[in-house]
Amino acid sequence: MKQIQIVYKDAESFRSRVRAIRKQYSGKTALMQFFYDMALEDELQQITDILEEDYPECRYFGCSSNANVTYGEISEHTILAVCCVFEEPDTKIKVLQYRLTQETQEQLCDDLLMQVSLNPWVRGIEMLLTVRDMSLTYLCDRLSEMDVRIRIFGGCAFNTKVNRFHVSVFSDEEGLMKEGVVFVLLGGSKLHLESTYIHGWKPLGKQFMITRAEGNRLYELGGEPAFDTYYRYLQIENDDSFYLNTLEFPISYERNGIPILRVPSDCMEDGSLIMSSDMTTGTKARLSYGDPQTILRSILQTAEQMAEFVPEGILLFTCASRRVFWGEHDINQESLPFQALASTAGFYTGGEFHRMEKTLNQHNVTMVIVGIREGEPRSSKRDELIRFYDYHDVQISMVRRLANFIEAATTELDESNRKLEMTNALLRRKAITDELTDVYNRREIQNRIVNEADNGSRYALIMLDLDFFKQINDTYGHEEGDRVLSTFAGVMKAEAEMAGFLPSIGRWGGEEFMILLPAADAQDAFGLAERIRTTFSEVDFPTSGHHTVSCGVTVANSDESADDVCSRVDKALYSSKNKGRNRTTIF
Ligand code: GH3
Ligand code: MG
Ligand code: MG
Repeated sequence: MKQIQIVYKDAESFRSRVRAIRKQYSGKTALMQFFYDMALEDELQQITDILEEDYPECRYFGCSSNANVTYGEISEHTILAVCCVFEEPDTKIKVLQYRLTQETQEQLCDDLLMQVSLNPWVRGIEMLLTVRDMSLTYLCDRLSEMDVRIRIFGGCAFNTKVNRFHVSVFSDEEGLMKEGVVFVLLGGSKLHLESTYIHGWKPLGKQFMITRAEGNRLYELGGEPAFDTYYRYLQIENDDSFYLNTLEFPISYERNGIPILRVPSDCMEDGSLIMSSDMTTGTKARLSYGDPQTILRSILQTAEQMAEFVPEGILLFTCASRRVFWGEHDINQESLPFQALASTAGFYTGGEFHRMEKTLNQHNVTMVIVGIREGEPRSSKRDELIRFYDYHDVQISMVRRLANFIEAATTELDESNRKLEMTNALLRRKAITDELTDVYNRREIQNRIVNEADNGSRYALIMLDLDFFKQINDTYGHEEGDRVLSTFAGVMKAEAEMAGFLPSIGRWGGEEFMILLPAADAQDAFGLAERIRTTFSEVDFPTSGHHTVSCGVTVANSDESADDVCSRVDKALYSSKNKGRNRTTIF
């Protein structure tokens, strides 16, 4: 494969370059892609006329861009032609173009998937598309259905005004479209593609839960309007510069285990943010920031991997926000290492696409790097990367130190918050629990009964009192008495749980207990009391043998006070005692 780049100057010089390429590579499969400034869109007609006349077998396509990457360096206000000439006879290409709107996306995905299944030679798909306020989640999910061996990569058309509406794509299939997508299917047995993505941005500050999102509209982070996060932490105002300001601080989160950066494209009056893909409630998200050295280190690691692949040509789909981040002088630092490996061309996008294993994801603030090779790898140019490692000598930047500080402080804060939460939960539990028996204390069970009564709910009470308990203390000691009490509490809990309703069990005082059964009738309550009574009477305590309990049961009427119900259940219990104990009485 040969990648030949032409920066368009005028029709005549373009024509002579095209003729020269055709002559040198006659009979080879050729594919030309264009990245252009929207201001130069009018020239496209002339360019395609020249191709149709002088290189009719060359397929072509392209999209508008924020800027281009020519031999690894940014070039602005240009039309860049990137011509790939495939030398292996088995290499094949196919160009498809569709109108892309909310309404057409389902049909075009059906058609694309069918085309791919009809052409089993496909190894990779490049996609260039326009995106307005449309979420591309559906498109990405559908394309993820393809055979996992097919690589998918590409970018969203853009323009120099950083405005997502004034964009276009075109190809020799359907011509220029303001809302469209071009897919280029590449493949054959000798064609090899290596694609990867990288952003190098780091999470910043605390983690938020996405508490409300609908489609691609992000309403709330951590229970507050999403915009508030940008204002509170970064002082970003909701004005005309909102998009530009947030570019450097995208939201980072994971989708299908893949880290994604996402820039809001707009901020609404209610503080919600418009995103370029669907956001899911319950996802954990954080702000993120870019640090030059960290990014360059990631770039070089990626370039090392690409060196292993030994590409013959490299395509870059890199986010326009990276330009804003680096500034015009430094931006080339992240593309030149790739040029050291092979001819590198591409464009500054309004969104990047990369398939990782099965899933195709749309990224922001990211650089997608694609290496193309035909046949077996020749010698690696890895050594060429050594000269890019100079930055290691530079002192660690202030940004990175401060970000580290925030990270460490956030982690410490999270940890102490977690401990505090645990302590509070423990204290709350302690305040309502009886220590010996681990059931609710008198105050808590009483509150619960009063609550039921105040709500006018139907409920039943069981009151239980151990029989001749004083004798246990007197004969076997207080410790044995305590043991019987906690064992009895265990029996109540186990039987109540098995009965299946959600009772509240409390210690009413001494060896007296109360069970509150919300929404239960007399039969339910009587049944439970009897099971507790029988089970307990069967327990054989090693020291003191068998013991019994007497129970009272009653059901509350909706207009009764808690006191009245409690006094009635007490009378029921008293009656059990009078009748000889070890029994249950209903009043
Ligand atoms: P009855 O069958 O009529 O209920 O007789 P009783 O002996 O069970 O009733 P009484 O009210 O006379 O005695 C209750 C005893 O429970 C008196 C008290 O010392 C004892 N007691 C109260 N709280 C505790 C406790 O926490 N641990 C122990 N071991 N004994 C307790
Ligand atoms: Mg008793
Ligand atoms: Mg008693």
